[in-house]
Amino acid sequence: MIKKIGVLTSGGDAPGMNCAIRAVVRAGLKYGLGVYGVNDGYKGLVEGDIVELDRHSVSDIVSRGGTVLKTARLREFKEESVRQIAVNNLRKLGIDALVVIGGDGSYMGAKKLTEMGINCVGLPGTIDNDIASTDYTIGFDTCLNTIVDCVDKIRDTTESHQRCAIIEVMGNHCGDLALFSGIAEGAEMIITPDHPIPEEEVMASLRDLYESKKKRAVVIVSEKIYPDIHAFAKRITEETGFEAKAEVLGRVQRGGSPSAFDRVLAARMGAHAVDCLLEGKGGICVGMINNKIVDYDIYEALQLPRDKHISMLRLIDVLK
Ligand code: ATP
Repeated sequence: MIKKIGVLTSGGDAPGMNCAIRAVVRAGLKYGLGVYGVNDGYKGLVEGDIVELDRHSVSDIVSRGGTVLKTARLREFKEESVRQIAVNNLRKLGIDALVVIGGDGSYMGAKKLTEMGINCVGLPGTIDNDIASTDYTIGFDTCLNTIVDCVDKIRDTTESHQRCAIIEVMGNHCGDLALFSGIAEGAEMIITPDHPIPEEEVMASLRDLYESKKKRAVVIVSEKIYPDIHAFAKRITEETGFEAKAEVLGRVQRGGSPSAFDRVLAARMGAHAVDCLLEGKGGICVGMINNKIVDYDIYEALQLPRDKHISMLRLIDVLK
């Protein structure tokens, strides 16, 4: 029977991570476990930056963006000798198991630690929604709402000046943030890794639109598609009649108070992670599928096809 657990956040930060931390701490304490917070992700685990938490340590953090445990990336964690230092640090404190809140890279670290004797459960904390074993990741909904808020504002000025706004949003290699925000905004065009549009087609469609007397347009584009989005906007200006301006929304998308949806999702997942550890499970990750909280083996989860919202792509054409 486990007696002490740890919790850490790793990889890119996401709104709602604090709610997940709180859920793990409160659920752990409720079941009589000692609960430890690891600062700076796997880096803190290796450096021994681990502190015992009580219920007050996580008071008043639910509405705060970012992560109170901070986050970091530590490439060397892929080496077994480095992970062994982390295992030794945990053993010294009598910590038997760990909740890891992060993306797929963090999941790999969690799986490998489990194979070294520390049961780990992963929670999907990332704005990108790029984890197939859950319909939604913690942070995606907040980020989506931030994007919609920004695009609403850009739309006002785009309309006043009769321009074409090219708006680049995050998502890593996953198009969900672009797809969802594009649909929420009724964007004239949505370009994502799952819905690429050849440049000639982009130009031809925008030319048609301009000639049909529509003198403003919103185009939502996933990051990492165009190496230089400003150069892309310049080409649109040169070739379509529109005056196009590119906006890269950037890190504003990562911040802010988590939405109610993300808070509840994080609370449900955090409590489930503790249940799993109490049942002796490890090397697994938690997800929400069809509104049910579920868990998968991490290797299996990382093999799942990332096409969970592919059916929404048809809306792009249907709602045009
Ligand atoms: P995000 O989706 O926000 O980028 P992530 O968890 O995928 O989050 P990564 O930078 O890929 O972010 O991974 C976070 C950390 O997980 C890495 O810095 C490293 O410490 C650890 N990690 C990643 N891949 C592995 C691996 N194959 N084996 C062990 N640890 C790993």
